[in-house]
Amino acid sequence: MSAKLIKGTEIREEILEEITSEVAKIKEEHGVVPGLVTILVGENPASISYVTLKIKTAHRVGFTEIQDTQPIDIPEADLLALIEKYNNDDTINGILVQLPLPDHIDEKKILNTIDPDKDVDGFHPVNVGRLMIGGNEVKFPPCTPFGIQEMIVRAGVETSGAEVVVVGRSNIVGKPIANMMLQKGDGANSTVTIVHTRTKNMEEHCKRADILIVAAGVPNLVKPEWIKPGACVIDVGVNRVGEKPSAKDPNRMVAVLRGDVDFDAAKEIAGYITPVPGGVGPMTITMLMLNTLKALKYKLGIM
Ligand code: NAP
Repeated sequence: MSAKLIKGTEIREEILEEITSEVAKIKEEHGVVPGLVTILVGENPASISYVTLKIKTAHRVGFTEIQDTQPIDIPEADLLALIEKYNNDDTINGILVQLPLPDHIDEKKILNTIDPDKDVDGFHPVNVGRLMIGGNEVKFPPCTPFGIQEMIVRAGVETSGAEVVVVGRSNIVGKPIANMMLQKGDGANSTVTIVHTRTKNMEEHCKRADILIVAAGVPNLVKPEWIKPGACVIDVGVNRVGEKPSAKDPNRMVAVLRGDVDFDAAKEIAGYITPVPGGVGPMTITMLMLNTLKALKYKLGIM
């Protein structure tokens, strides 16, 4: 294997340690800690497990955390009122509404009601605009792209002047990471191309990439011959390709996950590569914690 593995599991630990010590320092100097509320509607098992992990991580780094679970049939007006309650709660710095929401609720309306200064997911149009403007305007980059950029920087990969090719143009990964990498500033200053299903000669674009970020949701989409030797390959894709018995309990089946890149072949060509699982995945919740800490620091005027 020639590529250096960029492990999200290790970078997560580093960042969570940094957050924990900063929270302790702020507590000592200002007498407050960041507060995060997660709002869950209904009992979707996947949503429950995401929210549980977010709350557990918030607890670990010393935040005040609230899990607010609402019934699946909560009227939209009541959910809007609940968000307004947390918008006006001084002890809460971050509000997170776990998606998806049930069909009778307008997801956009809900997300747009969150105070942009507490929108630690970074999905509010005000924060999308701030991200586009760049520089000091940026408050809360969306968590997955924020994690991707942090991994690239912490791995020591040069971004200035680098050719970055992003596969995928979703609002949660492709578009924001492309925007972040082209900004003027540290960890950016790249020349960026976005490719998608209507792109001609996708392979040719990918071959040019010094940094290839793949977020398509198609297992093994990127072939080894599409990778420039020595490139940094960030595989965001998480695809369930089957099931296998759990290592802890062989009677329980767990998902077999694959990324969007043919990892085994790509690692012989790339200079850096993220594994799936254990690559980008652990970074998303980590950056949610960092955004929540930042929300408190903005409020205290120390950011
Ligand atoms: P999405 O909304 O489905 O967008 C996928 C994008 O990829 C679209 O822009 C699509 O192009 C493009 N695409 C799909 N097939 C393609 C192909 N054959 N050639 C070129 N482009 C193609 O997905 P997403 O939300 O961005 O997520 C992408 C992947 O990342 C998924 O596997 C998801 O599970 C994973 N993900 C992981 C994390 C994490 O680890 N924390 C977070 C978010 C997402 P068109 O626009 O032309 O349709």
